[in-house]
Amino acid sequence: MEHGRLEDAKARREWDTPMYRLAVAQLDRTAQQMDLDPNIWERLRMPQRAHVVSFPFRRDDYDTVETVFGYRVQHLLTMGPTKGGIRFDVDVDLGEVTALAMWMSWKCALMGLPFGGAKGGVRVDSDALSRTERQRLTRRFTMEIIDVIGPDRDIPAPDLGTDQQVMAWIMDTYSQQRGHAVPGVVTGKPIELGGSEGRREATGRGVVVCVEAACRHLGIDLEGARVAIQGYGNVGATAARLVDRLGARVVAVSDVRGGTTHPGGLELDNVDRWIADNRYLTGYPGGDDVTNGELLELDCDILIPAAVQNQITSHNAERVKPRLIVEGANGPTTLEADAILADRGVFVVPDVLANAGGVTVSYFEWVQGLQQFFWSEDEVNRRLRDLMQRAFGDTLALSTAEGVDLRTAALMRGIRRVTEAKRRRGVFP
Ligand code: NAD
Repeated sequence: MEHGRLEDAKARREWDTPMYRLAVAQLDRTAQQMDLDPNIWERLRMPQRAHVVSFPFRRDDYDTVETVFGYRVQHLLTMGPTKGGIRFDVDVDLGEVTALAMWMSWKCALMGLPFGGAKGGVRVDSDALSRTERQRLTRRFTMEIIDVIGPDRDIPAPDLGTDQQVMAWIMDTYSQQRGHAVPGVVTGKPIELGGSEGRREATGRGVVVCVEAACRHLGIDLEGARVAIQGYGNVGATAARLVDRLGARVVAVSDVRGGTTHPGGLELDNVDRWIADNRYLTGYPGGDDVTNGELLELDCDILIPAAVQNQITSHNAERVKPRLIVEGANGPTTLEADAILADRGVFVVPDVLANAGGVTVSYFEWVQGLQQFFWSEDEVNRRLRDLMQRAFGDTLALSTAEGVDLRTAALMRGIRRVTEAKRRRGVFP
C-alpha cells in the first residue's frame, strides 16, 4: 500500500461519530496541557476492544422477529477488570459506546477504583419494550457478549434504559451458562442477589454531594436555591429528592417527551404519583409544561442535566442562566459550549466527577460480594460521601493550582493515573 493510503487507512475509525470526537477532543486538549507522552496518548485515543453484534429477539406477538445491534467496548484493560453500564436506547452506536467507555476509564482512575472503562448498549427503543420483550432482548444480548464479560473481566451495570431487573437477567443468563450462581458478573443488581444497599440511589446521591460542595465553594445558599433537572429517571429523580430534602426548590424536571415547571417548587410526591398513573410528565397539573430545550434556559440557580448527551451546545450556552451546572448525565455539554460557559463564569462540575457515585458504589458492591460481607446503607452512603468529597476537593485544588477548569483538572487526574499504570506495565512483548 502506498504511504498516503496507509496513513488514510490508519486514521480511519469505525467508531468515529460526534460523541467519540467530543471524548477525543477532551482527551487531546487535556493531553496537550499535561504534555502527555505521545505514545500513550495515541493508545488512549482508541478502545482496546470493541465488540459489535447483531441479534434477533421475538416481539410479544411471537410472529415478529426484530434484529438489533448491540455493542460492548472495553477502552482500557491495564488496571483490572473493565467496568461500565449497559444502555438500551435508540441513539446507541459504536461511537457513543466508545466515548462512554473512555469516560469510564477517566472516572474510575479519578476515583482511585481498580477498573478500566467499558460500556455497552443495544440500539432499541427502550420505552417501547414490554417486560417480556425486554427480558428476551437482555438474555440474548448477554449470550452474544458472554465471552467478554465476567467478574474478573468486564462487569456491566445499569445505565440509560436499564435497571436492577435487567442486571438480574444478565446475572441469571450468565450463571445458567456457567452452571453456578455468579453474582459478581454485574453490579447494580437487586439486594437479594448480592446487590449493595444504596447502589440504586448512588449516582444521584453523588451528584448532590457535588452540588453541596460546589455551593459551598461558590457561596450559593442551597436553602431555597432553584434547581432545574433534565431527565427524571434513576439519576434525576434521586437528585431531585435529595436537593429537595436539603431545602432547595426543584423548579423543573423532564423526561424524554418534555417536562413540567413551577417557579415556587414542584411537589415531588405529586409528580411521582402522576408518573405512576400517566408514565410521562407532560400534562402534570401541578406545573406548566416545558420542552427539554426550554428547561435548559429557565431562570434558576442550579442546573442538573441528568438525561442524555449533547444538550448544552453552542446554540443555547449563551442563554443558560444558572451559575452552577452539575452534570449527572454523561457528555451533556459540548466542547464549544464549555468555552462559552467558562467565559460567562458558569461553574461546571463535569460528568466524570459529578456522576462517579454510581461506579463508586458499584465498586463497593463488588468488594462486598468478594468478601461475602455486606454493609449497612448508612455505611455505604458515608463511604460514598467521603470519596466524592475527597475527589471534589482534590480536583478543585488541582484546577486552582493549574489554572484550568474543573473538567480539565478531573481529566488530568484520571489520565495521569492511567498513564502511570501503562508506563509501569510497559509494552508487550
Ligand atoms: P434512566 O433511563 O433511569 O432515566 C433517563 C431519563 O432521561 C428518563 O426520564 C428519560 O425519559 C429521559 N430521557 C431519555 N432520553 C431523553 C432525551 N433525548 N431528552 C430528554 N430526556 C430524555 O437513566 P439514568 O440511569 O438516570 O441515566 C441518566 C444519565 O445518567 C445518562 O446519561 C447515564 O449515562 C448517566 N449515568 C447514569 C448512571 C447510573 O448509575 N444509572 C451512572 C453514571 C451516569
